[in-house]
Amino acid sequence: MLYNPSLLLEDAAKLGISVTDEMLSRFEKLAFLLVEQNKTMNLTAIIDPDGIAVKHFADSISALSAADFPQGAKVLDVGTGAGFPSIPLLIARPDLDMTMIDSTAKKLKYVASAAESLGLTAEVLHTRAEEAGQNKEYREKFDIVCSRAVAALNVLCEYCLPFVKVGGVFLAMKGAKAQEEIADAKAAIKTLGGKIVDEKSFTLSDGGERTIVVIKKISQVPPKYPRVSAQIAKKPL
Ligand code: SAM
Repeated sequence: MLYNPSLLLEDAAKLGISVTDEMLSRFEKLAFLLVEQNKTMNLTAIIDPDGIAVKHFADSISALSAADFPQGAKVLDVGTGAGFPSIPLLIARPDLDMTMIDSTAKKLKYVASAAESLGLTAEVLHTRAEEAGQNKEYREKFDIVCSRAVAALNVLCEYCLPFVKVGGVFLAMKGAKAQEEIADAKAAIKTLGGKIVDEKSFTLSDGGERTIVVIKKISQVPPKYPRVSAQIAKKPL
């Protein structure tokens, strides 16, 4: 076994997410694709069966427990890397209208081919989030935006909130330092038209602590945000 399905089932059950046999066989195939591709490119450091099940698959689908994902919702994964959380989310919810963004073309090529091999439909977009956030085609167009392991919350909000429709949510998938990041991001969230409406904390079966910060989009993002990368880095909100 390339991943440990019982650990995935255990964590999913704790989170109230049902996992069918069809999903399990797609997860098995995804584990195979990830491990194979990782032999020739640096996709992820986590390739042991327990780690794939918990740190990649269970952690990714945990987003489903933090917010309502309506049928066919338009979802964006910012900084998807090797396809997390988006590909597991699509395995669990193939009805979602999923777009993935990453600034690394090589990773996206793998993500697109993995989704296709799994019979899943997704759009991949090679861009920096702060550039796409100023593009009318993507700005304030998504019901749900999620992101894991990309940047500290204050910076991540500038990347992600511009994509969320007013009334939609941004799910920031964070680890043990979530509370510090929340404290540092209060001003950024307000400036960008967001409001924290929930903090869903849980512990995965490997002992890893997680908090999904649920930020609702209350009002439009002022036109000057997101700023260019250099400005975000120099003077984070
Ligand atoms: N989300 C995945 C996960 O949890 O496994 C990948 C995490 S990886 C540590 C961070 C990813 O974010 C990288 O693939 C990187 O290329 C991408 N990234 C970082 N900053 C970005 C930006 N401003 N716009 C788009 N992608 C970005």
